Amino acid sequence: MSAIPSSIPLRNDLLGEEPYGAPQLDVPVCLNVNENPYPLEPDVVSSIAQRVASIAAELNRYPDREHIELRQAFSDYLAKESGTRLRVEQLWGANGSNEIMLQLFQAFGGPGRTALGCDPTYSMYPEYARDTFTTWKLAHRHEDFTLDVDRTIDAINEYGPSMVLVTSPNNPTGTVLPHDEIEALLAACEQAPVTGAPEGAHPILIVDEAYVEFRDPGTPSAVSLVPKHHNLAVSRTMSKAFAFAGARVGYLAADEGIIDAVRIVRMPYHLSAVTQAAALAAFEHTDEQLSTVAHLRQTREQTASWLAQQHYHGENIRVAPSGSNFVLFGTFERRETIFQDLLDRGVLIRVVGPEGWLRVCMGTDEEMARFRQAFTEVLALHD
Ligand code: PMP
Repeated sequence: MSAIPSSIPLRNDLLGEEPYGAPQLDVPVCLNVNENPYPLEPDVVSSIAQRVASIAAELNRYPDREHIELRQAFSDYLAKESGTRLRVEQLWGANGSNEIMLQLFQAFGGPGRTALGCDPTYSMYPEYARDTFTTWKLAHRHEDFTLDVDRTIDAINEYGPSMVLVTSPNNPTGTVLPHDEIEALLAACEQAPVTGAPEGAHPILIVDEAYVEFRDPGTPSAVSLVPKHHNLAVSRTMSKAFAFAGARVGYLAADEGIIDAVRIVRMPYHLSAVTQAAALAAFEHTDEQLSTVAHLRQTREQTASWLAQQHYHGENIRVAPSGSNFVLFGTFERRETIFQDLLDRGVLIRVVGPEGWLRVCMGTDEEMARFRQAFTEVLALHD
């Protein structure tokens, strides 16, 4: 609980609000915030230390505000990872993709503007909307968590949003959005007007690809559509597959016009010299940083099929198909009880998503063995 006295003039719309975030608990097995569980290799650690040491004497100066070298590294990484070469002007970095999203809301949302999301989806989006006075609307997904494209297009035409947000793979469901559906949404956005914007403006489509490196190999990323669409913004992060959550680096791939719009609202020197140096060092070891991704994909498939064979109240547990490093499973009558029983056994997962569902992130082999052991015990308690 926060302790905000009524004698300080907090914004009226924030009265009674609590800071949002997953619990940070000191437990043996943390499977709750979708990190890559494998630590960095010693040679990556020493590259980071060297890069940071090499700029340390210049920390009296502000960093490169335009972080050009890092944007070039994003370009090189995406060329390799998604087969699309973008120019530095089409790329932009920030402190996590959380900050990328906030900057997009600051540039394209605001009073009188609407943002559209497709729930169940990432729970931070309504917070960015609230913080920027943007109206938040939803087009619900199908019961199996796939996107209801017709309903979403109807909502685009009905609300005239300035921003349409889709997440692929989606958090917390893991659902992958097929490429042709992204193209259908882009086509709808290119025709639709924007409420509260000058005539001729059309919604931008934001594809949040935080978990995209976990997709099936050979599947395209929305980054490949950036060169053809001026109204597409693809948000990416180094926090998940790339195993760099602690450094806080996210990035945006989009038309130069969208990047220039974001540059208007960014804080001066938002990306510290230390962050830029650490990220550049990590990109020197891209293959190593991604070396656990195939194994984590396998862990996900094994965990999903193991969960689907377990029973709760005489029925098989449901598992949502996931293209990510986590699995949503359910449904439980009182999911908080299951969550707590697991926590009592040293395993932290997440109560998130539609009523009755729980989400578990892929850990190391040892952590997953502990999860399976704990969950087996918990199911026996509830039989
Ligand atoms: N988008 C989605 C869908 C996420 O799940 C997360 C992290 N939970 C983020 C964005 C933000 O990640 P970061 O700020 O670490 O890049």
